Amino acid sequence: MSFTLAIVGRPNVGKSTLFNRLVGKKLALVDDQPGVTRDLREGEARLGDMRFTVIDTAGLEDATDDSLQGRMRRLTERAVDMADVCLFMIDARAGVTPTDLIFAEILRKRSAHVILAANKGEGAAADAGVIEAYSLGLGEPIRLSAEHGEGLNDLYGQLLPIEEKFAEIAKANAPVVDVTVDEDFDEDEDYVPVPTQEKPLQIAVVGRPNAGKSTLINQILGEDKMLTGPEAGITRDAISTRTVWNDVPMRIFDTAGMRKKAKVQDKLEKLSVSDGLRAVKFAEVVVVLLDAAIPFEQQDLRIADLAEREGRAVIVAVNKWDIEDAKQEKLRDLKEAFGRLLPQLRGAPLITVSAKTGRGMDRLHDAIMRAYDVWNRRIPTAQLNRWLIGMLEQHPPPAPQGKRIKLRYMTQAKTRPPGFVVMCSHPDKIPESYNRYLVNGLREDFDMPGTPIRLFMRGQG
Ligand code: GDP
Ligand code: GDP
Repeated sequence: MSFTLAIVGRPNVGKSTLFNRLVGKKLALVDDQPGVTRDLREGEARLGDMRFTVIDTAGLEDATDDSLQGRMRRLTERAVDMADVCLFMIDARAGVTPTDLIFAEILRKRSAHVILAANKGEGAAADAGVIEAYSLGLGEPIRLSAEHGEGLNDLYGQLLPIEEKFAEIAKANAPVVDVTVDEDFDEDEDYVPVPTQEKPLQIAVVGRPNAGKSTLINQILGEDKMLTGPEAGITRDAISTRTVWNDVPMRIFDTAGMRKKAKVQDKLEKLSVSDGLRAVKFAEVVVVLLDAAIPFEQQDLRIADLAEREGRAVIVAVNKWDIEDAKQEKLRDLKEAFGRLLPQLRGAPLITVSAKTGRGMDRLHDAIMRAYDVWNRRIPTAQLNRWLIGMLEQHPPPAPQGKRIKLRYMTQAKTRPPGFVVMCSHPDKIPESYNRYLVNGLREDFDMPGTPIRLFMRGQG
């Protein structure tokens, strides 16, 4: 998982030329379905050993039907919101134009990272324009020639710190593959990190097209910030928005690029699973949003399962609750279906909401905070081992071929999600049902709903 770079700037400065150079022939986004607006192009970029996603705001030249300024602004804002870093390009030979100033203003307000590039920088004709670029107040410009491939080292240099930052985030969010016991862990400290402004709580809202994701996110944001309607294009990227919800800084990833379009419905349904995957990978807490009228469809089950396997804290939110009449009965049915269809998410909260009216939003917020808390939880080793002794007494492990399996000692090896290691004899002989007994016990006795719990059996020497 890497970062996303958006190339923005007025028409004709050389954005597409740079895009093509970075992406090469392998264009990632190919969607030839007619009727789908495609004003953002996305591709997988290579620059030296660096890999990242690049978005190009091409297609502005065709904007004859609408005010160019308005479209340009909307498109640019969308690209900026989707990206982790923006490359703002001007034409060094033309110098800074009034339109460039408009772009600079948008970026200053909206983008966390801006890299300034003065393109068409080859030759002396560009000297004056490169110097003028400083006046934009966006730092030192990179002198670039997209056409001749000059200045790409400087671009690489400016992207490096961003790549490093993202590698760290990806590492922190990596699913459990192997477990090493955390030696530094202080037993007495039941530490739960609190999201800060720099490290907001990362949540993903996933679900089928039309479940109400955009409505829900707008409800959280408290205004009609997300761009929907005919302007919206198709992108495979997960869009993220920063906000503060009930005093908690959050970064919300969603799949809003996936708009419902009658003709391409089927294709979009398929796409939105991989799109959702990207959002899930970034998230700490995943909200699976269901439509109360058609809950637990195949696609919902797949994305929920995926979130669990990726080790995310999961909340199931049933939307459009305002149009349900027999609420009690419906809730009973939903709970039954949940237990039957998603046994792997046992204990995850099921919340009913109305994204439209805002009912249930506080409950959803509480569930997110609680799941996040559990996901980060540390249980002291002494407490775990006291618990283990009780569990063993209540229900001793089986004795295959008369050989008693000894579970000797237990510790929490990691958090996010919680992972535990049990030292034992014959780890390969312990049946899955016994593992489940322990995991369910942990979940209940330590009050850990809605988070995947990993349990590893380890032999000793
Ligand atoms: P966009 O509208 O910003 O995407 O711009 P394009 O990538 O389509 O480029 C507009 C024009 O500028 C094309 O004719 C390109 O060949 C030309 N161009 C792009 N980069 C450079 C460059 O580094 N140097 C020169 N001289 N021309 C360039
Ligand atoms: P998305 O495709 O998941 O982003 O779904 P949208 O947010 O675009 O919503 C799809 C449709 O469901 C729109 O017509 C919304 O107005 C409607 N909708 C969303 N949330 C609710 C809700 O809580 N109650 C009702 N009655 N309709 C809703």
